[in-house]
Amino acid sequence: MMSCNRSVRRVAGWLAGSVVLLAAAAPAANYSRVCEPQIKPAFLPLPPGAVEPAGWLRDWAVAARQGITGHLDEYHLTFRDGWKGISIAVPGGEANGAGWPLEQCAYWLDGALRLGFILHDEALVQKIRARLDPVVDGVNKADFGTSLIYWRKGYKPEGFNGWAHSQLGRAMVALYLGSGDKRVLDALVKVYADYPSAMGKVPLVQCEVTGLCNLDAMLETYSLSGDRRILDRALAAMAQPEVVRDIRDWAKGSLPPGHMVVIYEDIRLPALVYPWSGDQRQLQATLGAVKWLDQNHMLPYGVASGEEFASGVGALRKTETCDVTAMLLTSSWMYRIQGDGDWGDRMERAFFNAGAAPIARDFKTMCYYQSPNRLRADSLPCEQPHSPGPAGTHFHQLGCPSVLCCVGAVNRIIPNYVIHMWMATRDDGLAATLYGPSTVNALAGPRVPVRLTTTTDYPFDENIRIKIEPQQQVAFPLYVRIPGWCQQAEIRVNGDPLPSRPDDNRFVKIARTWSAGDVVELKFPMAPRILRGFETEFPTADRGYFAFEPPAVFKPRRFPYASVLYGPLLFALPIADVDPNTPVKDARWQFALDVPRCQEAAGGKPRGGEALASGISVQRRSMPAHWDWPLDSPLRLTAPAQAFDWKPSDAQALPERPVTGDTRETIRLVPYGCTKFRISMFPVAAP
Ligand SMILES: [Zn+2]
Repeated sequence: MMSCNRSVRRVAGWLAGSVVLLAAAAPAANYSRVCEPQIKPAFLPLPPGAVEPAGWLRDWAVAARQGITGHLDEYHLTFRDGWKGISIAVPGGEANGAGWPLEQCAYWLDGALRLGFILHDEALVQKIRARLDPVVDGVNKADFGTSLIYWRKGYKPEGFNGWAHSQLGRAMVALYLGSGDKRVLDALVKVYADYPSAMGKVPLVQCEVTGLCNLDAMLETYSLSGDRRILDRALAAMAQPEVVRDIRDWAKGSLPPGHMVVIYEDIRLPALVYPWSGDQRQLQATLGAVKWLDQNHMLPYGVASGEEFASGVGALRKTETCDVTAMLLTSSWMYRIQGDGDWGDRMERAFFNAGAAPIARDFKTMCYYQSPNRLRADSLPCEQPHSPGPAGTHFHQLGCPSVLCCVGAVNRIIPNYVIHMWMATRDDGLAATLYGPSTVNALAGPRVPVRLTTTTDYPFDENIRIKIEPQQQVAFPLYVRIPGWCQQAEIRVNGDPLPSRPDDNRFVKIARTWSAGDVVELKFPMAPRILRGFETEFPTADRGYFAFEPPAVFKPRRFPYASVLYGPLLFALPIADVDPNTPVKDARWQFALDVPRCQEAAGGKPRGGEALASGISVQRRSMPAHWDWPLDSPLRLTAPAQAFDWKPSDAQALPERPVTGDTRETIRLVPYGCTKFRISMFPVAAP
């Protein structure tokens, strides 16, 4: 079934920041694992730290370090004391040190550790290791079959604790990959070689989190260790009759509209097991679930709605910040398995838009929910508190202070994007999988160290320059992704143009012998696009959960909206802010997008609900010296609009049909991620 050659195992590791080699003897590909599945995933991830952010992206990552990610343990007991095996006097905390804090604190530990690796910030890595190493030691000193909750002797995590366990499992895998510390892998093997295969189900109803999410860390542990007991348990977990029943209809695009974090975490599980099981139906189940999200709950910033349940489409529908994190994680796994550049497009859309909006510019406060249109700091509807009430859209040091998942999960967004910007390929090449400024140190060809420096202001600019510096002259293929929205990409190597027609996975392969100083230049011309769709009713699943009223929100509806995209960016009409919780007074935002005038003279067929918009113009200025998602954006669009008397309510955010405005005007739009208050889902003006 799978190739696994333990006798030639060679594991060599260096500390964070340098390349970790985990490879069998030739002919195994660079970065392949001790055990590889029969169905080979397309990409091999590089260890955390191989890719380092640069330029504007580094500014943002450093802000995270100086803000919430670097200091969350100073803000709340949950993060100060989680995973210490002591009782924490907080909501949901159990006397035995388990419960809610384990989940929330694991999110933070995982994100902060990864941020430390990508920034090569030894102080941050050591700070998090001081929390994780005692868990590693605790497990290694305990009897075989303990869990990461090692202080509870003989305990097998179940229910919520199983879910929390899965989250720390991922942090442990990152710790091993980033440090090469064998004791960490020993601990993971000790835990997962005796982990119960009945670890959870995936019903996607209510808010039921599942311990089945341990499959991420389990399969990583197996591929890194070759301990067959782990694979047997993982395969048995997905073969449980209840689980098979739960996922039976996913391939047909039929899922219960459950809790969105749980949906995003659960839907990848069949695909995760598929390379090992060879069961195509598992891959199809995940792909069907993704399609279901696209068709029913996707918002223009690239992440589905979730208040807390799947909430349909609407301009005031909300997305929990945990959903952004989970979406990116699931997409990175799918990208790795399938190698399809469409996953890169999806991740960029989510990261550059939904990743930035819920975080303050200084990364010192964040909010639990974002919504495409944000007109006030307290969540609508205030008069009927729900999910979890008006604090949900308020920026605070802890997000929503009574529910700490999002302030934990937000720390994973930047490092998980950066880690996946470059991946290794099966033919010993390297692939540019997600764009942005970075430096990567990786092995290519016959294990030759190569440094690739990507200089770009992407996505705020369309030019990308990659300088290649191999330690010695070396032949290897370099794969570059051509974004799906890009019509006429240009590729040059040392100034000479190359054909830019992508393969079926939307990559162009550049196979040649590389010398120090070679330069690949990419140009991805961007053009404004209009995305059109409809506000839909709320699914009824969450009707009882937060007593959501009024009943009208559940009545079938199809109210038109239009959004503006440019490259991977969603654009919004900004409402200037005094601070993230205070919009300026008297801002004008009551506009319908004049779609007919936007599309004057635009050619081409709409693609996926999107059409080119020649009536929108672009203004570009140089980037600021320091990047903090400024409202005074270096990139702006000007679009035709019509002013009209618009009175959105939480029951109905958009007019029922296209409107005829009082005056024709021009509005200026900036990237959605630069705004704190905004309109990004517009009513549509009538022809
Ligand atoms: Zn959350």
